[in-house]
Amino acid sequence: MLGAIFGDIVGSRFEFYNCRSKEFELFHKDCFFTDDSLLTIAVANALIKAGGDDEALRRETIHSMQTLGRKYPQRGWGLAFSAWLFFDDPKPYNSWGNGAAMRISPVGWFAKDEEDVGRLSRIVTGVSHNHPEGLKGAECTAMCVYLARNGASKEEIFARAKEYYPELGGYSCAELSKTYEFNESCQGTVPEALTCFFEGESFEDTIRNAIFIGGDSDTIAAIAGSVAEAYFGMSEAERLSALAVLPEELQDIVKKFEGAVL
Ligand SMILES: [Mg+2]
Repeated sequence: MLGAIFGDIVGSRFEFYNCRSKEFELFHKDCFFTDDSLLTIAVANALIKAGGDDEALRRETIHSMQTLGRKYPQRGWGLAFSAWLFFDDPKPYNSWGNGAAMRISPVGWFAKDEEDVGRLSRIVTGVSHNHPEGLKGAECTAMCVYLARNGASKEEIFARAKEYYPELGGYSCAELSKTYEFNESCQGTVPEALTCFFEGESFEDTIRNAIFIGGDSDTIAAIAGSVAEAYFGMSEAERLSALAVLPEELQDIVKKFEGAVL
């Protein structure tokens, strides 16, 4: 999950001012953590608190997202989701937004097997992003994280991801960098973000690919970074540079979650 947070922070200053290059400073003074980090942390918190129970997980997910969302209002929330954050009894609104995928990585770390990835991902995602494309984007991302952390090869992860997105492999990062436009849908974000991972030679190289292709940079880097962390690992320096940007209460949740799953 820290890979998603790292990607979010690095991508934060490029969301509306794309860089489309691999040459840039990773942790510039203008970087900040956005909704992608907050919701990733909310999902991690809900998983620890709910344990294995379906209904408890649904309730804890809503509670954690609303608590952190209300506490940190200026973090790039989407319009419909900011309204959802303040409802007393929020309902899913058929969203296919890429928010479903940028927040899901803790499920890949927490799940016991592939079936568990599907179950947990559907519960967490279904609180808001219950459109089939939202559910698919989240599950595919969580599945890639799960496989990567359990030692699968890139070829194996690629083959599994292609079951969700047959178009994978049809374009390169260099091509995307020339043609890809801002897109807030899961279906227009997840396969592109995964391409950044599949072409990535290291954790850092994956993050650089994610900025290189343009588009919704913080979210693309969060999704790509979440899989890259599970596959390549992160150095202590990389971990600390991301953690240092978070307030202490959020760092504590990250550490608690890692303590529970690692
Ligand atoms: Mg964001």
